[in-house]
Amino acid sequence: MQQLLEPPRQQPLDSGAEKATEDDGGGGKGSVDGDVTSANPYAGLVSRLRAAWLSGKTRPMEYRVAQLEALGRFLDEKKQDILEATTLDMGKPPFEAEVSEVVVCKNELHDTLNSLSQWMKDKHVERNLATRLDSAFIRKDPYGVVLIIAPWNYPINLLLQPLIGAIAAGNCVVVKPSEITKNTERLMAEVLPGYLDKDCCAVVTAGVQETTRLLENKFDYIFFTGHASVGRIVMAAAAKHLTPVTLELGGKNPCYVSDTCDVQNVARRVAWGRFFNAGQTCIAPDYVLCSLEMQEKLLPALRETITEFYGPNPQESPDFGRMAGDKQFQRVRALLRSGRVVIGGQTDEEERYIAPTVLVDLQPSDPVMQEEIFGPILPIVIVANVDEAIDFINSRERPLVVYAFSSDVKVVNQVLERTSSGGFVSNDTLMHVTLTSLPFGGIGNSGLGMYHGRFTFDAFTHCRGCLYRSMGREAFNNPRYPPYSQQKLGIVRTVTEVKRKGTCTLL
Ligand code: NAD
Repeated sequence: MQQLLEPPRQQPLDSGAEKATEDDGGGGKGSVDGDVTSANPYAGLVSRLRAAWLSGKTRPMEYRVAQLEALGRFLDEKKQDILEATTLDMGKPPFEAEVSEVVVCKNELHDTLNSLSQWMKDKHVERNLATRLDSAFIRKDPYGVVLIIAPWNYPINLLLQPLIGAIAAGNCVVVKPSEITKNTERLMAEVLPGYLDKDCCAVVTAGVQETTRLLENKFDYIFFTGHASVGRIVMAAAAKHLTPVTLELGGKNPCYVSDTCDVQNVARRVAWGRFFNAGQTCIAPDYVLCSLEMQEKLLPALRETITEFYGPNPQESPDFGRMAGDKQFQRVRALLRSGRVVIGGQTDEEERYIAPTVLVDLQPSDPVMQEEIFGPILPIVIVANVDEAIDFINSRERPLVVYAFSSDVKVVNQVLERTSSGGFVSNDTLMHVTLTSLPFGGIGNSGLGMYHGRFTFDAFTHCRGCLYRSMGREAFNNPRYPPYSQQKLGIVRTVTEVKRKGTCTLL
């Protein structure tokens, strides 16, 4: 794992990234960018993108398709660079990087290109008597200039998937990759702009301080993926401009395992979901809830699975990743002090390695049960039955996903019906993200809004309600004008009425 410690490589390309410049102040006081003064280092950039948006350049479908196809070429031509950068950043196994960073984005891209003409179409809607001769439709309008802020755990996927929807919907976009994964940040900043129209899409490299300044600008939509605590900061900044947001946040995803299960299959599917990307997955099963009897069966099955996946020493496996940074390593290592380690537990600070680990004998108040783990640790919490598991889940913040394993569909249904979460999967983990047809997003503390496939296009689209009326036929309008009368009121009520279905007005 020597590679991990290497410094970011120099790319032989000119940097296309936008850097903060104190004198680049095209926004200016009194501009459409609100009260952001020319002192803001990003005002000029936002102003330039807004001018490009107002020019209408991003609206035609042909433009959007050309940009999306260019994004596809980036993924094809730079696949090797992506795999190398993610390996350097966090020891991401190339298989995992290809599946979760490249394939997922290509699928989102293909789904979007296949359906864009349909999604963009005006949707004609029902009319009442008063507007029967008019045209009423929903125009799928771009928001304008949007901001996408991405985290480090899937640094390509979580930047490009929203970007695909933002471009498809006809917006100008600022994307900000995470500063934690330096090699992927550099790749995005130096190479991606070469594929996209620089007038309409900019990559900004920024840490916390710079992002705070960036957020002072008025955007028309902000799409944020990251921690809930930062989500609050982003939402507060957005509120200053009344900017709508999508917040894709994290949390603790419970995984209930009932007594009626194929234990070996459960062990493989849970271990895969937990240890993929070394546990740094927002939808990873965060902890298992099961009976003591099931725990006794699950532990040997998990031990066997971990050996089968990663060999006798996972540190030597090319298929097991590393923590993304020292801070992340130290935080996750500290969680090993909760409960009792029954599998794994080994760490190596130099490599930022934490072994696939299983913990038992836990209290709900233990640190590992208080915060999102975001590392390769699987705690098992004992519950007597499904009712107790549901109470446990409902006593906590609503998660991004609830997992329920049972051969009995009634048990699965019970967990689905009596809990609330962003998504739900039975008898597997992570697999729901392979479907662009399912909305992906959190609820409550795990997020706000949804995306993937059509839902990404919708997230970046304003549904503009439009009514086209003709200039004539004024006689039809007379009943609504003063002087008012009971007779006019009756006519207005009738011609604008929404009838309750199933009620017969003739009787
Ligand atoms: P983070 O919130 O620390 O950082 C995310 C982004 O926000 C980064 O680009 C960072 O530069 C920026 N940022 C950080 N602090 C900021 C501040 N004070 N002001 C402005 N910007 C700031 O998250 P992370 O550590 O990169 O990612 C891990 C978190 O993301 C986990 O909680 C995980 O569950 C969540 N996540 C959620 C999803 C999802 O789809 N719901 C996907 C991946 C990760």
